[in-house]
Amino acid sequence: MSDGEATEVTGGTIAFLGLGHMGGPMAANLVKAGRDVVGFDPFPAAAEAARAHGVEVAQSAEEAAKGAAIILTMLQKGEQVLELYRGTEEQWGLLASAAPGTLFLDCSTINVDDAREAAEAATAAGHRFIDAPVSGGVMGAEAATLTFMVGASDEDFAQVEPLLGLMGKRIVHCGDHGAGQAAKVCNNMILGASMIAVCEAFVLAEKLGLKDDVLFDVAAHASGQCWALTTNCPVPGPVPASPANRNYEPGFTGALMSKDLHLALQAIESTGTIAPLGTLAAKIYDEFATHGGATRDFSGIITDIRYRSNPQI
Ligand code: NAD
Repeated sequence: MSDGEATEVTGGTIAFLGLGHMGGPMAANLVKAGRDVVGFDPFPAAAEAARAHGVEVAQSAEEAAKGAAIILTMLQKGEQVLELYRGTEEQWGLLASAAPGTLFLDCSTINVDDAREAAEAATAAGHRFIDAPVSGGVMGAEAATLTFMVGASDEDFAQVEPLLGLMGKRIVHCGDHGAGQAAKVCNNMILGASMIAVCEAFVLAEKLGLKDDVLFDVAAHASGQCWALTTNCPVPGPVPASPANRNYEPGFTGALMSKDLHLALQAIESTGTIAPLGTLAAKIYDEFATHGGATRDFSGIITDIRYRSNPQI
């Protein structure tokens, strides 16, 4: 099935599959750094935008992957990654057609179990696999300041670290296969639950007659301090750059928070972890996403909490 030996990871061509909100600017940064990138995305506008940034665009994932040393995926879901790898009844998967030893680098945010399954399938087919989900959002992707959470062997991590450094500024080796996704899911469970806690505190303060900037001033310098408060503050004013100051234009959408909390729920269930706060946060963000919050910044959940606390408004 293969086309011959895979070229060296450090210099070979990169097949970039998934040129969406995150993948598009990440691929553009690789091109800017002088790497050969052949991309594919079935959504024509995404493919065109990438082409405008110097990415060579192929007509299919298979065409993009032909002869690539690295096959990088930046997709929405684990099922999409696994389908590309394994193929379908009609179509060979990339694991079968890639040269032996190809590096399969998945930067999507997916279920930990799917990442481990992808790693097993890739290694069984004679390839290498790395899970490297990111945080930092579209702005981080554009500015090449993403954080990468990497699940890989020591040897593969050492090889891929310089490449990830072209798209990000913090590259953390979290452990073996699946550890990157595990770190991402745990971090975002903290984020979801802490944003809800910060929003509830502001609404409670408002009802107690305490001004937003007073609570901010106290909590930002006390034990309530956290990223949800001091960087992504859900009320306008105290942090001028936070989405609350532009009517909750994202930022990080309610839909993505809901998605990530569902990945946390799957991990909670598969490991038998007792996590009532994370579980409740998933339910609360589901409601937010289905009632207009899907495309708003996740901090916009404060408007729901305020509304429910003031039914007379
Ligand atoms: P997106 O929907 O904008 O991009 C995904 C792209 O994949 C789409 O353009 C789609 O057409 C393409 N695609 C689907 N099937 C494909 C295939 N078989 N081959 C090639 N391309 C295919 O999503 P995004 O916002 O770029 O997010 C990508 C991943 O990054 C997700 O897992 C998301 O959870 C994660 N993430 C997103 C953000 C963010 O702020 N957007 C932040 C951190 C992590």
